[in-house]
Amino acid sequence: MPFSSLGLSKELLSRLLDKKYEKPYPIQQQAIPAILKGKDLLGIAQTGSGKTDSFVLPILNNLKVQEEKTRSVDCLVLVPTRELAVQVEEVFKFYNYSLPTPFKISSVFGGVSINPQMKGLFGVNILIATPGRLLELIRAKALQLSKVNTLVIDEADKMLNLGFKEEMDELIKLLPKKRQNLLFSATLNDDVKSINQLVLSKPIIINIKAKHQNLDLINQTAYFIQNENKGPFLRQIIEDKGINQVLIFTSSTFKADNVAKKLVKHGIKATAIHSKKSQGSRTDSLVKFKNGTITALVATDLLARGIDIEFLPFVINYELPRSPKDFIHRIGRTGRAENPGEAITFVSQAEEHHFKVIQKKMGKLVETLDGDKLMF
Ligand code: AMP
Repeated sequence: MPFSSLGLSKELLSRLLDKKYEKPYPIQQQAIPAILKGKDLLGIAQTGSGKTDSFVLPILNNLKVQEEKTRSVDCLVLVPTRELAVQVEEVFKFYNYSLPTPFKISSVFGGVSINPQMKGLFGVNILIATPGRLLELIRAKALQLSKVNTLVIDEADKMLNLGFKEEMDELIKLLPKKRQNLLFSATLNDDVKSINQLVLSKPIIINIKAKHQNLDLINQTAYFIQNENKGPFLRQIIEDKGINQVLIFTSSTFKADNVAKKLVKHGIKATAIHSKKSQGSRTDSLVKFKNGTITALVATDLLARGIDIEFLPFVINYELPRSPKDFIHRIGRTGRAENPGEAITFVSQAEEHHFKVIQKKMGKLVETLDGDKLMF
């Protein structure tokens, strides 16, 4: 089924050509026509499924906006993290430029100064927001939700995991009764179900199979390597394989800084991204990593959850994560968008047992070589 059969406008279809997508992903095939018809939707889908395009395109296609410029937004997209806010905004803006009358699109999130956000809200049609900052702005009378006709809650499960339940309840009360609601969640636990009941009315339900069924797409190799050799071995791998884009995972912010610093010392363009970095620095690092100015981005699990990068060729696990789920999440980034990638894992002696547990949970045995012996 081609994109052209989904009911999207010719402007959006023409902009889609620039994305060079071959065909719609399953979630897009199902969600786009349903959203265009004005239905509520519950999408059970993970990052990587193509869910962002699946709501952005039909919203841009159909959004009704108020004639007058006000401080009332027409479409509200709630997201759990700043990183996701920025990514969703990018996707909206990518397609928006193709429209004869483009919408005004903005994002707001905590961790940065509130004043510029307040000033920029006038006349905004589509707002992407994290719940805490959005409430602050509403309390400061910088915007209103009474005219919202389309609500998206993205990554609802993560929103609840991060403790945003009360904020969400409060925000939902501020919305008008009549509106279209789109809710996306990777999992469907009882908490998410209660939000569904609160928000959705007779939704179309789309359930996309979990991402880790795509693990076959990823070439995995592991190396037994002593802790003190990990640094030099990392550089050796980057050089040997001619790697020019790699996401490296460590288990602490301290280690992430340390690994990045050592890479830089040896002439490899690297930076660390984690919760102790300022929002400005995180955004800057992501942009530089995406545009190729930086070769290696060294991240912790929490921060990396929100990062979406197309065609990431390499992931290196410098240290193992505690949870096997995080391991799958980390390496899942290389097999995205139906592109094969390579995931490399360093295993110190102390991590050997834990790596066995991870492989068992993942249902895959990873070829493991002796890294210490492979060092120059
Ligand atoms: P997400 O919206 O987080 O699930 O992102 C999925 C990734 O897949 C993004 O990098 C998109 O650019 C990419 N993507 C989305 N739809 C398609 C498609 N139909 N074909 C190929 N790649 C896609």
